[in-house]
Amino acid sequence: MSVAMKPEARRAPAPHASKKLNLIAGSWSEGQGAVTRKLLNPADTTEVVAEVREAALNQVDAACEAAHAAFLRWRSTPVLDRVQVLFKFKQLLEAHYLELAELLVRENGKLLSEAKGDVRRGFDVVDFACGIATHLQGRTLPDVSSNVDTYMIREAVGVVAGIPPFNFPAMIPLWMMPIAVACGNAFVLKPAEKAPLTGTRLAELFTQAGLPEGVVSVVQGGKEVSERLIAHPHVRAVSFVGSSAVAESVYKLAAQHGKRVQALGGAKNHLIVLPDADLERSIPALIGSCYGCAGQRCLAGSVVIAVGDQKRQDAVRDAFVAAARKLVPGDGLEEGATLPPVIGIEHKAKVEQWIERGVRDGARLILDGRNPKTPSHPHGCFVGATVFDGVTSEMPVAQEEVFGPVVNFMRAKDADEAIDISNRTRFGNSASLFTQDGAAVRRFRERIQCGMLGVNLGVPAPMAMFSFGGWKGSFFGDLHAYGPDAVDFYTKKKVVTERWFGAEAPKDGWV
Ligand code: NAD
Repeated sequence: MSVAMKPEARRAPAPHASKKLNLIAGSWSEGQGAVTRKLLNPADTTEVVAEVREAALNQVDAACEAAHAAFLRWRSTPVLDRVQVLFKFKQLLEAHYLELAELLVRENGKLLSEAKGDVRRGFDVVDFACGIATHLQGRTLPDVSSNVDTYMIREAVGVVAGIPPFNFPAMIPLWMMPIAVACGNAFVLKPAEKAPLTGTRLAELFTQAGLPEGVVSVVQGGKEVSERLIAHPHVRAVSFVGSSAVAESVYKLAAQHGKRVQALGGAKNHLIVLPDADLERSIPALIGSCYGCAGQRCLAGSVVIAVGDQKRQDAVRDAFVAAARKLVPGDGLEEGATLPPVIGIEHKAKVEQWIERGVRDGARLILDGRNPKTPSHPHGCFVGATVFDGVTSEMPVAQEEVFGPVVNFMRAKDADEAIDISNRTRFGNSASLFTQDGAAVRRFRERIQCGMLGVNLGVPAPMAMFSFGGWKGSFFGDLHAYGPDAVDFYTKKKVVTERWFGAEAPKDGWV
């Protein structure tokens, strides 16, 4: 099927044709590191979107030094003055909404509608941060003893390092940066090396909103730059989002250096369809969850479990496969495309290897997305919608994160068996139940071992006033991302117990 350009989808200007992508002490500079990466458009790898040279390690150190100096002033800037910058940032974000979404499509590949969602969900966190004065308030209890009052206050932590993944280049930096900064911290962003431009542009807009120099910094790079940042003595807290293996190593490294850390990892999310589910309404939610962003979401459904007798299970499978077949791989900026490319050539090869692995292990490939027809984009990183039937829990494809448009179809006789299948994986990010039965929802809620649950929806991302995070191998740390947990994460608490002597105070107390 041919695809035409959406009217609004003009090519985004290349704001990062400039090679100065590191923001250190308020100035943009080119990286001086040994590695330069060519960033290719995932929909057309003949297009070089940018060339990004890593920061040298002494540039990382310089960013941390400048951030620390900025923090010492910023933390005592009155909260209402800090919030004014957040309000202005929000205005700039709205003014640059489409530009940000288009830039995001070019570096990440997702559909323009998905990119708009990515940007918009990040804006919601900025709204939350605008109200930080309320969230920062402490607690007071007078008269805890005779003439003695106790109160808790919050203070900023210091320099915070933010290390996001490639798959939400706007939303995830915005989970971190606005709340950290509103709380009085300085923030050093190291964008994902596979999609660094949108986060960099967000930092640029944030500084344009009036942030003093050094409050937000940007350093480009991968593992080496991350590790330098995590270990730097001025960095007091690390916000990380990425794959579980890296999340765990970041958690350990940060802890070893005495840092506060939240490390969100990967996922294997189960979508359980009970016999009484409204199938007509559920199928679009299942498809959106599994194939949105080409399955590259930490909340993407990757296992559909149909509960019931064989007839019902087959009906769910057939309806799901019929809808998956209709997805049209294509450039995210083009009309008619409903399945975007995966992030890059290597990732496409990895997803295809998982498909081969599933076949080798005995799963039945009932929809094969390898080599989809994309005549207008012969050089795109496309994988079509893929479905395995006959998957068992023992198969690696049932246990590991593929992070692509590959879905396992599984079967269970009842809801408990389906919940057991989900609980058997090492991940615990999210799970969803499709049903009309409230009692079944209660049982699901109690038994499932995940941090985020959906009922009759496939992507149960908490809104900005809640917090986001999983359980088990999907999360390393204590406090989740954004919302109230983020306020706790980005502040330290002090409890003051004070006594003021009135004329009536006893003179023989010794406490
Ligand atoms: P990744 O783990 O490869 O990289 C994430 C970030 O870590 C990048 O900025 C990268 O430069 C940096 N990095 C890589 N190796 C490092 C190391 N050894 N030490 C320190 N930093 C290192 O992940 P990715 O491929 O960019 O993103 C996809 C993964 O992120 C998936 O597993 C997905 O499930 C996960 N994810 C999780 C959530 C969540 O909320 N739990 C959200 C989005 C994505």
